[in-house]
Amino acid sequence: MADCAKIKNNLKKIQEQLNPNCDLVVVSKFRTLEEINCAFDAGHRVFAENRVQALLERKEQLPQEIQWHLIGHLQRNKVKHIAPFIKMIHAVDSLKLLREINKQAANHKRIIPCLMQVHIAQEDTKFGLSPDELIAFFKQKPWLDLPNIQLAGLMAMASLTEEKAQIEKEFGQVQQLYTDIKKAYSADLPQFDTLSIGMSSDYLIAQNFGSTHVRIGSAVFN
Ligand SMILES: *Cc1c(COP(=O)(O)O)cnc(C)c1O
Repeated sequence: MADCAKIKNNLKKIQEQLNPNCDLVVVSKFRTLEEINCAFDAGHRVFAENRVQALLERKEQLPQEIQWHLIGHLQRNKVKHIAPFIKMIHAVDSLKLLREINKQAANHKRIIPCLMQVHIAQEDTKFGLSPDELIAFFKQKPWLDLPNIQLAGLMAMASLTEEKAQIEKEFGQVQQLYTDIKKAYSADLPQFDTLSIGMSSDYLIAQNFGSTHVRIGSAVFN
């Protein structure tokens, strides 16, 4: 049995800790349908999975009012499955992928908000563009021939460490990139307004670095 009261309490506590302009994306990966329904019944509507297959299965089994975000690495051949409904794609890291999202979004007459993933962590297992690659990417103005994607912002994961100073350094770096890009391309990208940083272990730190979306799983359900 899922402890709905606990989940509801966790959600309330987290919401109270977030800046007024910061949205909570509840990460439901590995959770039971019952646990996710607890969060839904508590009024939460924005959920995320990191794998396409799991997301599709859950979408079938859960209330249709849920707005689904994809937060994990996305393979090009899977884009077509989520294009009809996905609210936001958080971890885009190549022009090829962006082109495929644009194509599939056009098939459904949609414009899909996409975040570019920046690699700022020390671990080299994590996906994303390096800061230099990111800057070069924006210089090409790829959005000019991709009308069915909205370049909405950046997403990043900090190193898995207890060292607060290291996490602050990394979030500071991605916030700087975000504000620089926003300023440089404000005419082209008026809706570049999303900075997806902060998970269960570091969402409070992310509040000090301009986070507009936190992606939180364990702190909601544990
Ligand atoms: C799992 C996951 C999260 C949430 O992690 P928690 O530590 O459970 O809050 C956030 N972002 C991504 C990309 C994830 O894969």
